[in-house]
Formats: sequence, C-alpha cells, structure tokens
Amino acid sequence: MHRIKKVYANEYEHQANKRLHLFKNDVLPVIRSDADSENKRRKAVIVDLDDVFFYTNPIFTKAKILNLSGDDLWKFFNKYAGSCPANMWALEIVKLYSRAGLKPIFITARSKELQIITIDAIVGYIGWCFELYMRELNDRRPSEAVKEDILTKEVLPRYNIRFALDDDIKNCEMFAKYGIPVLHVINSEGKSCPDVTKYCKTLAVSDIRSD
Ligand SMILES: [Mg+2]
Repeated sequence: MHRIKKVYANEYEHQANKRLHLFKNDVLPVIRSDADSENKRRKAVIVDLDDVFFYTNPIFTKAKILNLSGDDLWKFFNKYAGSCPANMWALEIVKLYSRAGLKPIFITARSKELQIITIDAIVGYIGWCFELYMRELNDRRPSEAVKEDILTKEVLPRYNIRFALDDDIKNCEMFAKYGIPVLHVINSEGKSCPDVTKYCKTLAVSDIRSD
C-alpha cells in the first residue's frame, strides 16, 4: 500500500516538474495554443455512405453478377442508389454521436450527380444535422484520392475528427495517415477483399445485416 502511494506521488511530481520545465522554457504557451485550436474546432465523426451508412451491398453484388465495371457499374449503381435503406447499426451510431454534440460528416465517392437523392435520403433518416461531401462531376480519381482532398481542404481545418467509419481499406489507410482512428466496416456479402471477410460466417448467418 505504502509502495503504491509512493509511486503515485513520484508520478505526480514527475508530471509537475515536466510542466514546470516546459513553462520555464516557454514551451507551455505553444502547447496551450494547440489545445485551444483543437477545442475551437467542433468535434465530428466521418461516415462513409455506400456499404456503411446505406445498405448498398445488393447493388454491388448484382453488378458483380452482371460483370459490370467502369461507367456501366456506376450507371447501374446510380439507378438504384436512391432507394437504399440505411443500415440500422450505422444509423444508431450516427444518431448517438449527433445527440452527444458530434457532427456527422459524410464523405463519399458518390458523384454529385446523385447529390439531391443522397441528401433527401439522409435527411429522411437524421434530419439536417450533417455535412455531405461528394465527388465532383467527371472526377474519376480513386476514392481515397477524392476523400483525401476533401479531408484536408474542407474538413480538417474546421473539425476535430474523433474517428472515421469506412469499408474500403484504402480509405481507412488514408484516414489513418492523418492520425484519425478508423473503424473498418467489414462486408461479408459485398465487395470487400476475401482475405478480410473470411471470418464473417457467423455474421452472415445471423439476422443482422452483415455489411
Ligand atoms: Mg463504402
């Protein structure tokens, strides 16, 4: 017991000395400044749309069966995207964090061609409490490049991002590059890498949609 108290006391003294040292060397104001700018930015969470917030797996599965790719794939996707329901688990996460004061920010590789139906669909579930960033028309870069641009130019300067949800591992790696904790959504019935989804059998046989 005596030993534990002594360790705590030493740790306290150690931290106090560190703060004193920083103050003496004029480093502390810089640290405070960083903390202040962090606090000024509103807390937010980044959420992907397709196969995360929206249950779009059947569209991609059907497209795969039809062997669609490139423009044909996206025309097919655009035709059905407006009618996709939300994944209840993702909706619950977004609502919970929104009620706690964290802004939901949807960053999607969907083209702005789908802006109106996408906004309508999100508003139908959570109202007007979110921001939405989409791929510009005719931007054909990979998803992670599109999202990285949006993240660095639009989102990070204004928001303190607590975590990101995405099913595309390349997007996850991109977010992680900026120090953002990422929750990787694994789709057992969608388009994810089989190396990642090989453990998904228990989810696939449950009554929870496994995306
Ligand atoms: Mg996705």
